[in-house]
Amino acid sequence: MSSNKLIVRPNTKVDLSKIPTDFTDGYKSEEEVSNNLEKNIQNMINLQDKLYAENKYSLLIIFQAMDAAGKDGTIKHVMSGLNPQGTQVNSFKQPSLEELNHDYLWRINKCLPERGKIGIFNRSHYEEVLVVKVHNLIEKEKIPTELITKNIWQQRYSEINGFEKYLFENGTIILKFFLHISKDEQKRRFLKRIDKKSRNWKFSDADLKEREYWDEYQKCYQEAISSTSKKYAPWFIIPADHKWYMRLAVSEIIVDAMKKLPLGYPRLDEEQLKKLDACKEKLENKR
Ligand code: ATP
Ligand code: MG
Repeated sequence: MSSNKLIVRPNTKVDLSKIPTDFTDGYKSEEEVSNNLEKNIQNMINLQDKLYAENKYSLLIIFQAMDAAGKDGTIKHVMSGLNPQGTQVNSFKQPSLEELNHDYLWRINKCLPERGKIGIFNRSHYEEVLVVKVHNLIEKEKIPTELITKNIWQQRYSEINGFEKYLFENGTIILKFFLHISKDEQKRRFLKRIDKKSRNWKFSDADLKEREYWDEYQKCYQEAISSTSKKYAPWFIIPADHKWYMRLAVSEIIVDAMKKLPLGYPRLDEEQLKKLDACKEKLENKR
């Protein structure tokens, strides 16, 4: 599979209703792809080791999706085996009072991955042009009312683009995943959460309320994705009805992006090498 297939090219208008949610790229079953997924995870582990040792680039992976699309599961499966010391996961929920007393990127900034690390966002600043738009929450954000104009969403896309470009130019590689499920598949997954005792905790009646806004969300997603997929911070639309394919696709895209980085273990200069030799000699000659 090539990750190019799922990328949203800059300046294209996305129509989510035309993008299949059950695409599997010719693969038929989970068994068929399990080796590939394993291989990708192993590659990711090796590349992360270099990223961490080199301590220059950082990787920011953003997950956005409708409820039950599989953000949590994808994070759990695809990131399994990574070095916990080099990985930071953050979930963004309704903003707190303290967060609302700042601009909307404040809480995001605080969670950005350090150099050498992989940062995973479970939801992100994109909620600011999704749930905030669907439910018209902008007035709760304490922005001076005269600054809330009809261009507010365009303005936010451009602020987000500027922010992400800045991060890219300072060494953060950004990958953005929209996990794309169908409304029917969401219904099946909600029912499973209700029917299966061990899954009950995953269900909340608020999820059902949000489902009523499905079409509005799809519209907001496609507008946001169309306006913010850039070379420096591309969006990928991942068909998510089959979890196994979704995980394979996400892992493949991450590995591809990491392979493109000029990563290598730090090399010592002449003087440091001499010191290393001296240490070796000392170790070998003494008990
Ligand atoms: P899960 O349900 O799998 O635990 P989740 O990400 O859906 O994960 P919830 O606690 O159910 O977590 O929901 C978090 C809610 O916070 C979502 O409905 C999301 O839209 C909302 N949210 C996130 N960021 C913002 C924001 N900036 N403004 C308003 N609401 C937000
Ligand atoms: Mg939820």
